Amino acid sequence: RLSEKLGDIAHKLRGAARVSEADLDATLREMRLALLEADVALPVTRHLMSEVRERALGAEVAKSLQPGQVIIKILNDVLADVLGGQRRDLDLAKIPSVILLCGLQGAGKTTTAGKLARLLASQGKKVALTSVDATRPAAREQLQVLAGQVDVPYISGEGSTAAKMAKSAVKQAGSEGLHVLILDTAGRQVVDDELMAEIKDVADTVAASERLLVLDSMTGQTALQIAEQFHAAVNMSGCVLTKTDADVRGGAALSVAHSTGVAIRYVGTGEKIDAFEAFDPQRMAGRILGQGDVVGLVEKIQSSVDEEQAKKAAAKIKKGQFDLEDFAEQLGQMQNMGGMASMLKMMPGMKLPQEALDQMDDKPMKRMQAMVYSMTPKERKYPKLLNGSRKRRVAMGSGTSVPELNRMLKQFGQMQRMMKKMKGGKGKRMMAQMMG
Ligand code: GDP
Ligand code: MG
Repeated sequence: RLSEKLGDIAHKLRGAARVSEADLDATLREMRLALLEADVALPVTRHLMSEVRERALGAEVAKSLQPGQVIIKILNDVLADVLGGQRRDLDLAKIPSVILLCGLQGAGKTTTAGKLARLLASQGKKVALTSVDATRPAAREQLQVLAGQVDVPYISGEGSTAAKMAKSAVKQAGSEGLHVLILDTAGRQVVDDELMAEIKDVADTVAASERLLVLDSMTGQTALQIAEQFHAAVNMSGCVLTKTDADVRGGAALSVAHSTGVAIRYVGTGEKIDAFEAFDPQRMAGRILGQGDVVGLVEKIQSSVDEEQAKKAAAKIKKGQFDLEDFAEQLGQMQNMGGMASMLKMMPGMKLPQEALDQMDDKPMKRMQAMVYSMTPKERKYPKLLNGSRKRRVAMGSGTSVPELNRMLKQFGQMQRMMKKMKGGKGKRMMAQMMG
């Protein structure tokens, strides 16, 4: 995982009192490898690194207390800038507006058509779906079933070619006063001339307002090539990245956004019809770095062990008000103090053999922290707000899973109850120690 790599990088620089330019270069080299492993295309990685280097020099990373963290924050900012470069809403001014979906077979076009129809209908648009796959009746049926599920009309276009079918469907949508017609097209296993000619023909015939490339985020390095070929044929106006629930690396998104300049509009986050969201560049950058809300995290860590904070936390515990936000803060401070093992060594009455300490794993701690930082401040205060969809969002934002989140919430609840019980005496002393 990229996050672990970057964690190592940060760790190496943490102890250093001064970071030379050679250190910085070495760090950037490692970062570059980590990005390539996350499936970010080579030219894109190169560009990112030169951007990070420039900003790092400007920020005088060498003089900061935690150079590794600062570099990671800079990388996060650069990623979010690239990903969020050209955001705008879908252009649906025309009536009817045609949204053309194209992409390879299995990318998720048909699923996306249904999801997008549901979303736009929920925003008050009169939406219809149509498939212009002239050769596969089963593909048309699949979309027809989806249309029924999301409760929007399905229009059967007439004609022997995709372009003719599209034209007739658009005409019908117009005569029915519909706002938006979503056009699902046939895909192929690989990009070929016939497919490109067909898509181009359809796009030209119906003058589509939006031409969205549906891209499987698991296509990795080839995503860039696919995107460039479709872009050359039909001048894509946006991209939908599917199956982001299955691929946490996000390299494809970055490559596509950077090289084609085509903005990512939506992400598919699961097979279900409601697993679909507007694209959030900050969150995707965080995901690529694999640390949830990296920026927030780094900022917290940088504020470091603060006596005032520790006192406040102790007071909250006393009143039984210790919430998830405090919890995450404590986790951050533990990390700052050298992780769980060195924490335990500092705790009174805790005698563990050295091997046990060596084997202590701080990963769960980091994951817990990422989960908390992927919550809104309100959710951190009132975890009961976390219903199914909020949980999914948090799990996604932190690169974890809903069951893992549930486990964390349960543990936190237990800890909270335990703290309430041991408000006085020994418990208080122990917590005071823990908070430095
Ligand atoms: P098409 O050939 O491009 O029309 O692809 P489909 O829409 O038929 O999708 C292919 C497969 O990918 C189906 O099994 C979908 O359920 C699945 N799929 C599509 N989008 C997502 C997504 O965002 N997440 C997950 N997990 N599966 C998806
Ligand atoms: Mg399909």
